[in-house]
Amino acid sequence: MSAPFSEPSAVRLRPVLGSLPAYVAGRPAPQIPGLTTFKISSNENPYPPLPSVLGVIAEAAAEINRYPDMTNTEVRAAIAAFVGREADQVVVGPGSTGVLAQIMGAACDAGDEIVFAWRSFEAYPILAQLAGATPVTVPLTASGEHDLDAMAAAVTGRTRLVLLCTPNNPTGTSLGEAAVRAFLRRLPSDVAVVMDEAYGEFSRDAGHADGLALQEEFPQVIALRTFSKAFGLAGLRVGYGVAHPAIAEALAKTAIPFGVNRLAQAAAIHSLGVVDELNERVDALVAERERVTAALAEQGWVLPDTQANFLYFPLGEASAAFDDACHEAGLVVRRFGAEGVRVSIGETEANDRLLALAREFRATVG
Ligand SMILES: *Cc1c(COP(=O)(O)O)cnc(C)c1O
Repeated sequence: MSAPFSEPSAVRLRPVLGSLPAYVAGRPAPQIPGLTTFKISSNENPYPPLPSVLGVIAEAAAEINRYPDMTNTEVRAAIAAFVGREADQVVVGPGSTGVLAQIMGAACDAGDEIVFAWRSFEAYPILAQLAGATPVTVPLTASGEHDLDAMAAAVTGRTRLVLLCTPNNPTGTSLGEAAVRAFLRRLPSDVAVVMDEAYGEFSRDAGHADGLALQEEFPQVIALRTFSKAFGLAGLRVGYGVAHPAIAEALAKTAIPFGVNRLAQAAAIHSLGVVDELNERVDALVAERERVTAALAEQGWVLPDTQANFLYFPLGEASAAFDDACHEAGLVVRRFGAEGVRVSIGETEANDRLLALAREFRATVG
């Protein structure tokens, strides 16, 4: 018998797959003898899981021969109590990326439009096209902020969804509450608005727009949050949305059955009970961010005002050289073509190394 698949596949696949941006795998960490390398390319929490979280996961692992609770009842109740809402307003998914896919699946028919800022989270255009929707991108301002006037102007009769990312990945800029309220007043009330708050816990901007607070006046707002970043559970895949019960009910219909596994549910519930301990780490990361941004400003860098656990260097053509310099210093960062480089706040040693490298880079490259 000949080996399978020696001929090209004749299977017809969706043409849209050809136009999706190829997934950019992070560069593997450089192997430099004597040098610890740091992966600061995915905005992960550098702290290892709390011992108590590992304990809960080990306990839950004893039952992985059983399916998890398909309706996420306990974890939804825990999140509802945490945010001060009813459980029928909470939807849980495999990461907030999973919840966002559920939202698009519930809101969009083929050809419907999804308006979002660009550059923003890389998953947006991919998920939108997979849902059969048409992504409508609105460029960020020169300072890396959402251009809400232009976004409002981009809304048409076919717009079903608007995505606001705050703080924005990759620029770190946050949206002000008054500006978002003014924006929402201009929108038809049947257009859903997702507030992607994946980095909300890191914001120290007092006027920062908050999805839950906006829902009183604007019931079409869906607040999207995750356990991946501030709570350090990226590898378990669990995130949630808070929305009008009718929207939450629809999102349950577009979920992949059993999408949130047993370990993730248990760890999420436990994390909400030890939130003070987790918040200490968030505070420490915010303090590191403030230290690093102050030092960079002193070096002469002018960067977007970040409220997240990462920084953005809008270097244009010099992005590749900066990426290379980081790589040589044992730092794995995220470059966006010839636009800029995003660097996560990581371990203190990683942050110090970044500062030394950034100083050197300014001195040599300018
Ligand atoms: C990391 C991130 C998420 C969260 O992804 P998960 O699927 O919850 O891990 C959501 N939105 C943005 C903008 C992000 O950067």
